[in-house]
Amino acid sequence: MILDNFHRVRLIDQPTALQRLSRIEALNGHQSLWVKRDDAILLGQGGNKLRSLEFWLGEARAQSCDIVLVAGKSVSNMCRAAAAAAAKTGLDCLILHNDDEPVRREGNFLLSHLYGASFQFLGPIDEDERAVKLREAAEDLRRRGRRPYIVGDSVTGALGYVQGAFELHQQAEDMGAGLRHIFLPGSMGTTEAGFLFGCALLGGPFTVHLVSVEYDLAELRERVDAIYRGIAERLSTRPASNYRQ
Ligand SMILES: *Cc1c(COP(=O)(O)O)cnc(C)c1O
Repeated sequence: MILDNFHRVRLIDQPTALQRLSRIEALNGHQSLWVKRDDAILLGQGGNKLRSLEFWLGEARAQSCDIVLVAGKSVSNMCRAAAAAAAKTGLDCLILHNDDEPVRREGNFLLSHLYGASFQFLGPIDEDERAVKLREAAEDLRRRGRRPYIVGDSVTGALGYVQGAFELHQQAEDMGAGLRHIFLPGSMGTTEAGFLFGCALLGGPFTVHLVSVEYDLAELRERVDAIYRGIAERLSTRPASNYRQ
């Protein structure tokens, strides 16, 4: 398979469930409504980040790294999922939060603590400044003899959802689900670009509807396009059918 050449750690019992929403079908008069339960991935309270982390931590392992760095706000799902995946993989995890330390230890911040991560609080700075701080922290660790890996490269992360598209397609066939339209929420474009690329490699079996939960359409499109091109480069392949939005 096209992804076999990429390093990957197994974090998820795959495939995740594909469930029929028969009660909602009955309420809405819909004939066939399904949900892919990536939210119910066991490790680290689940969510879409775990598929990407399989490839990020695979890369970290392949580069003999011993600590992963990740950045986000203290409510970040990404930081919480990375902390859990690092613990599972036997790597240390340093989280840089671009806000002030919360007064109360709760939610994702509490979970990241329980998963054994360590923390730095940078105060309210923007994404660009945060990226600089992240590289500085990695450099600092390197000087002290550690081997850091920065979690977050979009193209590497998107490979998780190239695989996710393959998985859903196979599973839907096996279950006779007859899926035609997929609704996919996203923000940074990682999940969306990966999923669209996977679908394109499969010859476009679904119409994919992206639902932006963060940026406006133009910005999301730009992000998805850039990551999509990055995946094509990384996999040295350009799918015959491209995607349309
Ligand atoms: C991260 C996240 C997204 C967005 O995923 P992207 O790959 O950044 O587009 C959507 N929903 C939830 C709940 C998330 O945690």
